Amino acid sequence: MAKVITRFPPSPTGHLHLGGARTALFNWLYARHHKGKFILRLEDTDRERSKEEYVVSILEALKWLGLDWDEGPYFQSQRLELYQKYAQKLFEEGKAYYCECPKEVLEEKKKKMLESGQKPRYDKTCKDKNLGPGEGRALRIKAPEFGEIIFEDLLRGKIVFPAEEVDDFVILRSDGTPTYQFAVVIDDITMGITHVIRGDDHISNTPKQLIIYQAFGVEPPKFAHIPMVLGPDGAKLSKRHGAKSILEYREAGFLPNALINYLARLGWGFGDQEYFTVEELIEKFDIKNVNLSPARFDPDKLLAVNAYWIKVSNNQFLLAHLKPFLSKKYDLTRFPEEYLLEAIETVKTRGKTLVELAEMMDFYLVEEISYDEKGAKKFLIPQMVPVLEKVCKDLENLPLEDKTLEEYFRSLAEAYGFKLKDIAQAIRIALTGKTVSPGLFEIIRVLGKERTISRIKKALNYIFENSF
Ligand code: GLU
Repeated sequence: MAKVITRFPPSPTGHLHLGGARTALFNWLYARHHKGKFILRLEDTDRERSKEEYVVSILEALKWLGLDWDEGPYFQSQRLELYQKYAQKLFEEGKAYYCECPKEVLEEKKKKMLESGQKPRYDKTCKDKNLGPGEGRALRIKAPEFGEIIFEDLLRGKIVFPAEEVDDFVILRSDGTPTYQFAVVIDDITMGITHVIRGDDHISNTPKQLIIYQAFGVEPPKFAHIPMVLGPDGAKLSKRHGAKSILEYREAGFLPNALINYLARLGWGFGDQEYFTVEELIEKFDIKNVNLSPARFDPDKLLAVNAYWIKVSNNQFLLAHLKPFLSKKYDLTRFPEEYLLEAIETVKTRGKTLVELAEMMDFYLVEEISYDEKGAKKFLIPQMVPVLEKVCKDLENLPLEDKTLEEYFRSLAEAYGFKLKDIAQAIRIALTGKTVSPGLFEIIRVLGKERTISRIKKALNYIFENSF
């Protein structure tokens, strides 16, 4: 097989969303699986709605997801001459003709056809006028009048359109800009695209595009029209369903590989397997396994996938992704990397997002612990003073292993007539400020003896100031 070349051609009229990212991913995976090429192209011919800020954010989102491209980004707005050259060729070969019908007249005719229950189509008024280019003239392609336009969709099999469904549509507007259909095909031809994987909202464009391929005598690429991503309620996915742009997911504390895993599973499957590394996806991805029923976005499932990847990722990787969140509040250069890595180890099974993890790590990074008021009142009480004082003294000589610590605190509870739980809660408050935290012994180990003792001393001060 010739080298596979796929493309992702977003229009920069908005940020990259889940649906678009999944289309990009499927194209990327297909290219990577076949050791082919993945091309990025921005379809920015709609000058009114295309914005530079969206170009920037789309590129950033793709980079963050790790969907690297081998060529591009190409910009359609910089390729106008190319489209004009190709259009000219069709005109010269008699495969396209200029049309001078005024817009208002076309509108009027369209209205009438609709009113009489017909599908609106151009009535070929200018087809035989032999017009040349000129002010106010658009170029139309000569579409076949009879027969069928057929293509073999990689997912759906044979798709047949009666030729009557397609009229002599415009390929070059009167201002010299190409229409979407034309620019896409010229790009796909000149970029050597072999496979077009796109949303099934584009199926109806395909016959028009096939007519353009035919006019050039070029073999069209293979098409795979993938079902759209819907919201949990079955309606078109939107903000209303809590779906965010890709970069907003980054802000919300998602790992890029978790999002990739989730997006890949949206409509594609490999047996019952839920979790995939990117390498596994590349190895196992086959467009033929994309499910034809529309995929539904499930925010809880996405969170669960994120939690899984947080849990199983190595701490170094997590630290790299946590840094942007932690550095907002803390100067991380104050801490040895080892300390941060150990702290991550204690929280990684407890949070679903990096934002939650960063919050859980607060107590490792603050200078001064502030106490949860209710918890402090309940557990930092005068009766606890001798216990806490003794812990400060004994800790110096205690090995910080689970077993030793467990035995030590048990005997302490017995000696002072407390429940082990109450002592543990008092120390937990002293060390973390909270009543819920990772395991006490692991916290003590990570904080180290010095920090632990100084925090317990601070808790003793709190008791003196508030209770006597
Ligand atoms: N620019 C089109 C879009 O954003 C994609 C066109 C295509 O894949 O052929 O929907």
